[in-house]
Amino acid sequence: MANNEDIFKKVIAHAKEYGFVFQSSEIYDGLSAVYDYGQYGVELKNNIKDYWWKAMVQLHENIVGVDTAIFMHPTVWKASGHVDAFSDPMIDNKDSKKRYRADVLVEDYLAKLEGKINKEVNKAAKRFGDSFDEQQYITTNPRVLGYKEKTEEIKKRLYGAMDAEDLKGIKTLIEDLEIACPVSGSRNWTDVRQFNLMFATQIGSLSEGASEIYLRPETAQGIFVNFLNVMKSGRMKVPFGIAQIGKAFRNEIVARQFIFRMREFEQMEMQFFVRPGEELKWFEYWKEERMKWHLSMGIPAENYRFHDHDKLAHYANAATDIEFNFPIGFKELEGIHSRTDFDLNAHQEYSGKKLQYFDPEQDKSYVPYVVETSIGLDRTFLAVLSYSFTEEKLEDGSERVVMKLPPVLAPIKAAILPLVRKDGMPEKAREIMDKLKVDYMCQYDEKDAIGRRYRRQDAIGTPYCITVDHQTLEDNTVTIRERDSMKQERIKIEEIAQIIAKRLKA
Ligand code: ATP
Repeated sequence: MANNEDIFKKVIAHAKEYGFVFQSSEIYDGLSAVYDYGQYGVELKNNIKDYWWKAMVQLHENIVGVDTAIFMHPTVWKASGHVDAFSDPMIDNKDSKKRYRADVLVEDYLAKLEGKINKEVNKAAKRFGDSFDEQQYITTNPRVLGYKEKTEEIKKRLYGAMDAEDLKGIKTLIEDLEIACPVSGSRNWTDVRQFNLMFATQIGSLSEGASEIYLRPETAQGIFVNFLNVMKSGRMKVPFGIAQIGKAFRNEIVARQFIFRMREFEQMEMQFFVRPGEELKWFEYWKEERMKWHLSMGIPAENYRFHDHDKLAHYANAATDIEFNFPIGFKELEGIHSRTDFDLNAHQEYSGKKLQYFDPEQDKSYVPYVVETSIGLDRTFLAVLSYSFTEEKLEDGSERVVMKLPPVLAPIKAAILPLVRKDGMPEKAREIMDKLKVDYMCQYDEKDAIGRRYRRQDAIGTPYCITVDHQTLEDNTVTIRERDSMKQERIKIEEIAQIIAKRLKA
């Protein structure tokens, strides 16, 4: 069986071959961690955006959307803390010349310890069979306890050093754990240094007195600085939310995981403004809502898990990640954070403008607390793509690659295929195409044998293939082939739209 790394490579190759994702500027050998979306990729991406927007904005009467600029006043990033603190500790291996995030090296070590614990538990579960009590085992088995103790000790040191910005402490921890470079295998490390992740550029021509501004590293601040505008112009009442989809830029140190970690990416964020004191209730609400959203796409629940943060940012009083089982392991897909009144307070202080809400029920003004849901569009794309990628061996011995995309997200909803390129079939197929394309993204294809055309549609995840044959010309029926089961049925032409519509709602 192929291992996960192989699957990841196949997904990347498939994404390129079928026009989902290309390396940026590929003819110039590409630009590291920057990607372009191709003809099917852009459709899938737009569908994910729509699916999110509908769930967040259309279905919540108290959430509205905005689309704010990528460039913002530089003081925004002072107030938000990004100028001073949006940095990662990095370390270079002197032999391989590879650069790593120092905290990630330690976290990978912790993941290995967790793997060892799981291995022990699985072994014991096999040994003891039905009588196995996992809880008892992990709280009493000396080996497991040893791993756990070590884990706790390392976490304490890592987070302690990170909080205190003790870069020497992080280096010492890496040395004490004898962590080696995964590429060279050596422990020949440089010192740990801080590296700010924001891209800076100049605005205005030099003669006018240019000033340095940043490409936004998150979309959230565009929401915070428009809090008053939206509240007033939209007559919003707490609790209410503001949602936004847009580009964000981070000069990531480790950028080798396809579209999982990019330097230019897109976020789908929502800031929910609530009464102080009610934020933890809303935090729980959004945790559940967001998980429901993920599951509503039809990807089985075992592919998702919550990861509550041990280490909270200084402004947060609760935080969790929704992690997805990517081919590179369980990793963060979405963050849900209770951010208190940190951001609005900071903007109030730096701008000198009051950013408060008058609560008629409480008869007082306050700075609302904020619960944020922040999901990476590209990571959702990767999650859906890697989950959907399926290699199948068919009964007749042949193989097919099929993208079992949730139909609502599929780039093309139906392909219209004349069986042969003569006898009036292309004309009939065109007629069907012209009607259907008004409501659905469809594709007309008359090239090659029908079997090959089906495979091409499987490879891009098209839920239905509609074939026009001799019988169509006689009785206005077509065959409709379903992607996953490959079953074909004969139906009336008028039924096609209905069948597609039904599948998109399922
Ligand atoms: P990580 O720990 O993986 O760097 P983060 O905790 O910094 O992520 P947030 O700042 O919480 O991420 O951003 C919210 C979401 O934006 C993430 O859950 C992720 O889906 C997405 N995201 C963040 N950085 C990137 C990136 N470099 N490329 C693609 N998506 C990203």
